[in-house]
Amino acid sequence: MKHNSKPVKVGSSIIGSGNFTIWAGPCSVESLAQFRETATQVKKLGATGLRGGLFKLRTDPTAFQGLGREAYEIVQKVKHEVGLPFVSEITDPREIGDMIDVVDAFQVGSRNMHNYSLLKELSSIDKPILLKRGFSATFKEWMLAADYLIKGGNDQIILCERGIRTFETATRNTFDINAIALAKLETPFPVLADPSHGTGIAKLVPSIALAAAAAGADGLLIEVHPDPKHALSDGYQSLDFPAFAALMDRMPKLLHAMDREMAATL
Ligand code: PEP
Ligand code: MN
Repeated sequence: MKHNSKPVKVGSSIIGSGNFTIWAGPCSVESLAQFRETATQVKKLGATGLRGGLFKLRTDPTAFQGLGREAYEIVQKVKHEVGLPFVSEITDPREIGDMIDVVDAFQVGSRNMHNYSLLKELSSIDKPILLKRGFSATFKEWMLAADYLIKGGNDQIILCERGIRTFETATRNTFDINAIALAKLETPFPVLADPSHGTGIAKLVPSIALAAAAAGADGLLIEVHPDPKHALSDGYQSLDFPAFAALMDRMPKLLHAMDREMAATL
């Protein structure tokens, strides 16, 4: 398989080198204990980066909105202890100034892919951007969102396919495997797959994660929680530690068949 990405360095992790990177963690950072336990476990099992929402854009305004700035100290502490880089969603340009010291890459979420003023702000900073596909965005619109970042001078872009809304309601979204292969073919950017939001069902996540790797993805952004049933967001699509361990056991075998390997941290 051709790996023509321009690798992007995110802290101690290189995304798009040809090796497969796993970015794992909870949908939301909920507490020091929850984030520490998750980060420690996913690192032990081979993750090379941490994810965790701080500012959550929830459909229901009464749902948990994330710890926001309150979680900065938690993240700094855990990142230091575990020694992995961290990515989190930026929802408001006013937060960039403080959040830039906490994250190793800014995530632009599905709901904000079309937020061109946010993209313009992010285009002038020296930090990688994990650009998720809008759930109703065409491939072309996703690429044009990336162009906003490039136009402002930031080409440290990592694309992330996270599923799109279709007529199908049996799964939360329809994971667009075509988009993985097409993005690898037509862009120089590394491409991550998010099988958690792509399916919305924990039991489907490992299959779609493996399928994305087979389609050429550079890695995964995946939700893992110590106790998914009690998660404050997206528990139904989060893997518990045994399920994540099982996926981490299977993934190298699939990669091997494609002359690829799991990535290690620097
Ligand atoms: C997330 O990664 O937690 C998230 C909110 O994803 P998306 O923007 O793809 O819905
Ligand atoms: Mn989530």
